[in-house]
Amino acid sequence: MRKINEIFYSLQGEGYHTGTPSTFVRFSGCNLRCPFCDTRHEDGTWMTDEDIVSCVAGHPARHVVLTGGEPSLWIDATLVERLHRAGKYVCIETNGTHPLPDGIDWITCSPKDGAPVVLPQADEVKVVYLGQDIAPYERIAARHYFLQPCSGRNIRETAECVLRHPRWRLSLQTHLIIGIN
Ligand code: SF4
Repeated sequence: MRKINEIFYSLQGEGYHTGTPSTFVRFSGCNLRCPFCDTRHEDGTWMTDEDIVSCVAGHPARHVVLTGGEPSLWIDATLVERLHRAGKYVCIETNGTHPLPDGIDWITCSPKDGAPVVLPQADEVKVVYLGQDIAPYERIAARHYFLQPCSGRNIRETAECVLRHPRWRLSLQTHLIIGIN
């Protein structure tokens, strides 16, 4: 059984796959406590893998995004394999502080200040910009680096930081802009 906060169908609003229809599986609970976190960590429903895959299969998108909370605390290779067998492309959004099972198709690492990243590599690094030095995040091996504003409040400052650090790209929270989940 795995504790699920919600499963919903929407567009990926952030990062490399922005605009991609995706089924989001939001797990409950996290090992960190970020002040800007929008997850209700205490809420959740215990679900079997069969229930999760069945719910995910009810949505038409190939992309599945395991998110949270911190999904790495809850998932294993069995769940990833079951999603693959259902024909899904499995993405994860993780804070990078906990190892991942094999087989995940796309890893988004969103490191949080002061929390050591243990992942050897990721497909993309996505950082919420709060005025911090972003150079340390470049030590995480990744193909893409995205900087995004905090809840849409500091878009100009984030854009200016990207201009100073052209290895990075601006990621806007497009789901907030268009008013969807
Ligand atoms: S790492 Fe993510 S889920 Fe965990 S507290 Fe921070 S923002 Fe919330």
